[in-house]
Amino acid sequence: MSYRDDAAFWACPHGQDARHGCVSCYEESADPDPDLPVWDVAVWFTSDQPIPVKALQDVHRHGRRFLLDKLSAPRIYLLTGHANAAGGGQAVAGVIGFLVHNRHVVHAFTVQDTRAVRLSPSPDTPTGERVWP
Ligand SMILES: [Zn+2]
Repeated sequence: MSYRDDAAFWACPHGQDARHGCVSCYEESADPDPDLPVWDVAVWFTSDQPIPVKALQDVHRHGRRFLLDKLSAPRIYLLTGHANAAGGGQAVAGVIGFLVHNRHVVHAFTVQDTRAVRLSPSPDTPTGERVWP
């Protein structure tokens, strides 16, 4: 078993697999604890149906710096967003939870890859110092 397949590694604080998203993490990120570090999260996923351009453009109206982009490969999309979270797993779970919470935008999806970079919460922590996983 590789490190990245370790279920405990991917588990969010609610026991969900971060790669499947967690609506509780998403909802908590709506009212974040400002003492928690900020993560810059990127999620690459495939959608079972093409996502209309209007739906892509509407994502930013949900606020909180979410952006959804279509990549050049068919039905591969990139969702990026910022999340306050204690760890990278929770940050990823919250951003993918956005997809779970917005099934009208993305009906069914399969996460291909994720990245979480901890942004600087304080001057003594260099930006992008930690990359997760
Ligand atoms: Zn969670």
